[in-house]
Amino acid sequence: MPGGAPQADLSPESIQAMVGQALAAFAAAQTSAELKEARLAHSSDRSPLALANRAIGTLPGPERKEAGQRLGAARAQVNAALAAREEELGAAELAGRLVAERVDVSLPVEFGPQGAAHPITALIDLMGDVFVAMGWEIAEGPEAEGEWLNFDALNIGPDHPARGTSDTLFVSPLEQHIVLRTHTSPVQARSMLDRELPMYVVCPGKVYRADEFDATHVPVFHQIEGLCVDKGISLAHLKGTLDHLAKSMFGDGIETRMRPHYFPFTEPSAEVDLKCFVCRGASVGNPDAPCRTCKSQGWIEWGGCGVVNPRVLAACGIDTEVYSGFAFGMGIERTLMFRNNAADMRDMVEGDVRFSRSLKGMAR
Ligand SMILES: [Zn+2]
Repeated sequence: MPGGAPQADLSPESIQAMVGQALAAFAAAQTSAELKEARLAHSSDRSPLALANRAIGTLPGPERKEAGQRLGAARAQVNAALAAREEELGAAELAGRLVAERVDVSLPVEFGPQGAAHPITALIDLMGDVFVAMGWEIAEGPEAEGEWLNFDALNIGPDHPARGTSDTLFVSPLEQHIVLRTHTSPVQARSMLDRELPMYVVCPGKVYRADEFDATHVPVFHQIEGLCVDKGISLAHLKGTLDHLAKSMFGDGIETRMRPHYFPFTEPSAEVDLKCFVCRGASVGNPDAPCRTCKSQGWIEWGGCGVVNPRVLAACGIDTEVYSGFAFGMGIERTLMFRNNAADMRDMVEGDVRFSRSLKGMAR
């Protein structure tokens, strides 16, 4: 050994004393932390026994063997005592913890603040339920959609102004012809391509427009569209369905009316108005009782609808001699604004739970 090797007393008495001190220290330790200290002092690389072990090499041959055996036995005894004490203390501490952390399930509980379903989500579910109850199916589709399905399949020709980059968000590169869907109508096209007839589907979801973000516009919003294709479907079925939806959303006596309009994918097409659910028409021609909700018109614009254009059915491989259908769609945000008196679109995207909680009657 290089100079400065530890000089240790390797006599049996000395080793016995080291063992005695170690055992006493282990027994005195009352916690795992105390036992760790005792282990460092008596069983680590720098403990007296370890130093003695390193000194064996300095002894002459015969003594070296004898001292080696003594030390080996001593260290084994110390390590066994340490292991036994570790187990004892570990078991005691576990038992103590089980008692200390016992949960009394009979105690009253205080609930922390809870979140709320976002009103858009809740309203989509509510509207979906109206249709599921009539046996309709909820359909979903991708938000990044092929340009053909978003436009061409719906009879929106290549020169239609809505197909420009100022109105529609394209996924680059432009040559791959993928758009962020501008309406939920491509889900209807997909449904017609996928499903057996007759079909009754309602498609709620996010849609995208290259629009400003202000109190009345958001570039990402939600629509719900419905489509049925069956034998002998007429405008009367459409009117009945819309009236049922209006009544379910806004209460008894709230019906719809249609005003002729133009949409490429329906023929004839109409805009859907909702009877004002605040004044129920009483404000019309009655300057003494004006209505802010409908501006004393008695009706509020709600969405669009129509009989599915046979060209759209044919584009999806449907025999237009046998089948016809109707379609309708409305904005979820707009519906929420009416139904829950939410005036600012920005509240709907900011995710403040106080806004979600403030909208009554949305609980599922
Ligand atoms: Zn009104």
